[in-house]
Amino acid sequence: MDNRATLVELRGVKKVYLTSKVETHALSEISLDIYQGDFLVIRGPSGSGKSTLLSIIGLLDHPTSGTYSYRGDDTIDMNLTKRARTRNQEFGFVFQSFNLVHEMNILDNVGLPLKFRRSVSKQERDERANEMLKRVGIEHRAEHYPAQLSGGQQQRAAIARALIVEPTLVLADEPTGNLDEDSANVLLELLGEMHGGGTTLCVVSHDPVYSSRAERRLDLQEGRLVSQSAA
Ligand code: ADP
Ligand code: MG
Repeated sequence: MDNRATLVELRGVKKVYLTSKVETHALSEISLDIYQGDFLVIRGPSGSGKSTLLSIIGLLDHPTSGTYSYRGDDTIDMNLTKRARTRNQEFGFVFQSFNLVHEMNILDNVGLPLKFRRSVSKQERDERANEMLKRVGIEHRAEHYPAQLSGGQQQRAAIARALIVEPTLVLADEPTGNLDEDSANVLLELLGEMHGGGTTLCVVSHDPVYSSRAERRLDLQEGRLVSQSAA
């Protein structure tokens, strides 16, 4: 048994999508605990429900049935404000698609999540954004606008923006899928450092590098957890 605090507790979670007469059972009876400081990798074929599971954990979507508590709080009946606050304060999302704000330079894009924290001054925001830009290796692009950056640099900026809030739980959905090799290594190193500092990682990836570093690997098949292996 694991004595660490439980962050995520899913019990019997189902997700059914209804689209013009077709029912898709994306998730069936998922029960899963994620502990503070965990490093979990989720694998599975395309369409097995990996992204759906991450969206539910990240409070971006609701399960059709089952229960989900986060830090012991039932999320099913959580009001919108609390859901949004939990999302913003607890989670860091690293997805393949990223939406940088075109009208803002890279420094302001990366600092944006901190703008919603009243306790963080503009000066501290800029300092932390600069620090994150250094960590992802694009500090020389701080004053540029997204359109002036390569695809890989834009993704690094999106990663910096996702992680600047020092999230408790990082949810990454096939993060290296579109990344060039150098950017993929930068991300791996950054996530590794964060995990070393106590950050919890839940990564959907088939990259063996992630599987080998993870503490636990889960395999999804047709919306069911078919195996859980410890490292
Ligand atoms: P994965 O990330 O493992 O590829 P997904 O979680 O994206 O799988 O999808 C699981 C199943 O749910 C698939 O059959 C997919 O077509 C379906 N699905 C996902 N999102 C939606 C949606 N918004 N509407 C209808 N069906 C969806
Ligand atoms: Mg997916």
